[in-house]
Amino acid sequence: MADHIPFPVADGDSRPFWEGIAQHKLLIQRCENCQRHIFYPRSLCPYCFSDTLSWVEASGKGTIYSYTVVHQAYGPFAAQVPFVVAIVELAEGVRMMTRIAGAGPASVRIGMPVRVVFEQADENVTLPYFQLAEE
Ligand code: ZN
Repeated sequence: MADHIPFPVADGDSRPFWEGIAQHKLLIQRCENCQRHIFYPRSLCPYCFSDTLSWVEASGKGTIYSYTVVHQAYGPFAAQVPFVVAIVELAEGVRMMTRIAGAGPASVRIGMPVRVVFEQADENVTLPYFQLAEE
């Protein structure tokens, strides 16, 4: 069993996202045809099927769209319970599944403002989490 949580594997579509995270930038895609923001990373716009997508830096601000509290976990996650897994809606309109860092489950509510934080998981891997923010 690994002594750390599973790390993401960057592929062709997601590599720019993870390279941005390593530089503490939250990058999302924007369609050059219909101008909509897109997340998760992909090669075609899900709205107009254009393949002219560019990468833009998101504000890092969002709100908690939904969340759950993990009370039971195994392996490297077992020592971290309880923790909050949330779907955050970014100011740009896309939704992102993430962990809420630095806040106990009792202090998290739907609709709360959050902002991205970057956690160094090991010497090579940085992960994007969110923490509660002031309005
Ligand atoms: Zn489009």
